[in-house]
Amino acid sequence: MGNNELNRFLKLPKFAKYIIIVASGKGGVGKSTIALNLALTFQCLKMKVGLLDADIYGPSLPKLLNKNVKPEIKNKSFLPIDVKGIKTMSIGYLIPEETPNIWRGPMVIKAVTQLLRDVSWGELDILIIDTPPGTGDVQLTISQKIDVSGAIIITTPQELSLLDVKRGINMFRKVNLQILGLVNNMSYYICDKCEKKHYIFGKQLSHELTNSFDIEILGELPISKDLIKSHDIEHPIIKQKQSDIIFKSFFDICQKVLNKITV
Ligand code: ADP
Repeated sequence: MGNNELNRFLKLPKFAKYIIIVASGKGGVGKSTIALNLALTFQCLKMKVGLLDADIYGPSLPKLLNKNVKPEIKNKSFLPIDVKGIKTMSIGYLIPEETPNIWRGPMVIKAVTQLLRDVSWGELDILIIDTPPGTGDVQLTISQKIDVSGAIIITTPQELSLLDVKRGINMFRKVNLQILGLVNNMSYYICDKCEKKHYIFGKQLSHELTNSFDIEILGELPISKDLIKSHDIEHPIIKQKQSDIIFKSFFDICQKVLNKITV
């Protein structure tokens, strides 16, 4: 095996106690929104949190946080951008937004490796990594380069996205990545009048997925305008509405994840 080939399989030094991948079968299911809110919830649990936007083809963190900044470089490493105590890094901070769309294999692997290797995170309890939809070079590189505690898969209840999820589950299993569970986003809405949950797409499809793949549903989140605004980092939803169903759902998801990764 040549040096280059060998390097591909050498793990990078550990920079967080726990590292979690947030993944989805396809785009637009709320993956980035949930990754950000998970980071905020872990912070509420008094953990030191990092959030890495590794969605190379469409980084959304700078836009979500409304941060148009360039990270400083110190001792040849990028310093993460501090957002209300959460350390964040995104390819979107480093290069123009449209550039990565045309990147393929080796360029993507190089960029991800750099994001993993050349950021001074300091001491982190947990790093959340938001990955591109689908399963490809980014997920593969991450699983080869660092010890990942597990992956959380975000889905919506429509059949099409569940098919994509099935594909993703198989791929994660092939690279020996533990799947911590599914978050079923936009799975119901709460009626203003009767205040009850309405499962507009039914519950059947996600049950089918958990049964056939033996995967736990970590939580379900409603379609809610509060979640659309949840990137308002000055007034994060999970810090404002301590009694709200959304806060409880995120708190529950994080507790279940911690129970799994800390054993
Ligand atoms: P992805 O990262 O999967 O592409 P995003 O997190 O960017 O998805 O979310 C896509 C859009 O859906 C955004 O406009 C976001 O505000 C919205 N969204 C996400 N989750 C919900 C939800 N539970 N209810 C309503 N809108 C949501």
